[in-house]
Amino acid sequence: MGKVAVAFAAAAVVAACSVAALMVGRRMKSRRKWRTVVEILKELEDACDTPVGRLRQVVDAMAVEMHAGLASEGGSKLKMLLTFVDDLPNGTEKGTYYALHLGGTYFRILRVHLGGQRSYLDVQDVERHPIPSHLMNSTSEVLFNFLAFSLERFIEKEGNGSSSQGVKRELAFTFSFPVKHTSISSGVLIKWTKGFEISEMVGKDIAECLQGALNRRGLDMHVAALVNDTVGALSLGYYHDPDTVVAVVFGTGSNACYLERTDAIIKCQGLLTTSGSMVVNMEWGNFWSSHLPRTSYDIDLDAESSNSNDMGFEKMISGMYLGDIVRRVILRMSQESDVFGPTSSVLSEPYLLRTNSVSVMHEDDTPELQEVARILKDLGVADVPLKVRKLVVKICDVVTRRAGRLAAAGIAGILKKIGRDGSGGITSGRSRNEIQMQKRTVVAVEGGLYMNYTMFREYMEEALVEILGEEVSQYVVVKAMEDGSSIGSALLVASLQSS
Ligand code: ADP
Ligand code: MG
Repeated sequence: MGKVAVAFAAAAVVAACSVAALMVGRRMKSRRKWRTVVEILKELEDACDTPVGRLRQVVDAMAVEMHAGLASEGGSKLKMLLTFVDDLPNGTEKGTYYALHLGGTYFRILRVHLGGQRSYLDVQDVERHPIPSHLMNSTSEVLFNFLAFSLERFIEKEGNGSSSQGVKRELAFTFSFPVKHTSISSGVLIKWTKGFEISEMVGKDIAECLQGALNRRGLDMHVAALVNDTVGALSLGYYHDPDTVVAVVFGTGSNACYLERTDAIIKCQGLLTTSGSMVVNMEWGNFWSSHLPRTSYDIDLDAESSNSNDMGFEKMISGMYLGDIVRRVILRMSQESDVFGPTSSVLSEPYLLRTNSVSVMHEDDTPELQEVARILKDLGVADVPLKVRKLVVKICDVVTRRAGRLAAAGIAGILKKIGRDGSGGITSGRSRNEIQMQKRTVVAVEGGLYMNYTMFREYMEEALVEILGEEVSQYVVVKAMEDGSSIGSALLVASLQSS
């Protein structure tokens, strides 16, 4: 071999070696990057861990906070608000009633017709529309004029059939935000949640605002009750099944109410009702306990929200926020590794990933996870390999599993407070073995997250059995109430008219 040939061969070997070294280097680098995302995932899993022992601590904390909130005004982050609802619809109601429901994402209008028997409940013309986003930070006048206008259109469509001439239409206003009631038909807004920000409305009487707008439009409608959405769900639950004593909503936000003995509402000494009880709106979205498994993503989400240091529980378990927690995890992974490839700035946009999309990705059963690929593409993350798509599904699972399990702990906390968890309540000093005669207890549940996200629902129901144990669980029935908030509120107005 000549010198030139030797030099050429040597150069070829060096080149081959450096290509190989480059490839090995890249592979190692990519393995390191993969290791980084696996570590981030592991950290997330650990931080979101909810073994049953921890859930029981949350159960106890919920029950303790309920007591504290009932004992004194401001005694707990749980406001435990009076609703002035002491009698729930029992099936004998008659007539035609309306409900207008302002939720977090949707507003709904419907009419119910009642024939005096439980089986005769006719829900008519349910209208559901997204709340136009500009209304969320408009003025009270703009918001209520819009609601009155929507009601007017609804009524115009009725023709003459539904209300006899000259008879006022009785309306329930279902309002899914915290209200301090002075009666069943009046109350002032305490604060906004779920991204609403119309500050001049805080402290105003909500029913009065709506009635004013209806009057201005010349509508012959009477706001007969101002009803929290959870109370509406409880009313529908009770109408169908009088063992219903708790109602929980998992929609854009989350909240619960339950039937409490008036003598347990210590902050209102001398509160008298004919039934001896009153529905208490817990406003449980604001529940907080050091036992809640909080991650850095929760802390950042809270800090950047319009209501920071508020609604901590809601931000871990409800539809408005789950998508954003998942987005934050993906964003961090994409910043600390290149497994998501070159990502666009879209991924940094708060609330861009909706919880609806999280459930679609989580429940994607296509062989190549095409739905995950499609949704990631919309987030500015295109062409990720299957193993990264699987990683995203896992993130959805971790976040939703935590939410479902914490939701179950919240429900078990209420059951504990009212002595329906098999332990005899927190004040009785009974041991867990000494199970009280267990009463059948129905928990009415509604809201888009619960109704539509199967994995959330399954995790919640599974954890409830885990916490309560098989035996006690047999007595606890969780019942879905589709549109319960709105229908139930109309039933509540009906029961007021006939009592
Ligand atoms: P509102 O909160 O306005 O009363 P809903 O109770 O219908 O309305 O809840 C709507 C919310 O529920 C949505 O904003 C979303 O967060 C959640 N949601 C609805 N459908 C789904 C779904 N398929 N998967 C996951 N979350 C969902
Ligand atoms: Mg709702």
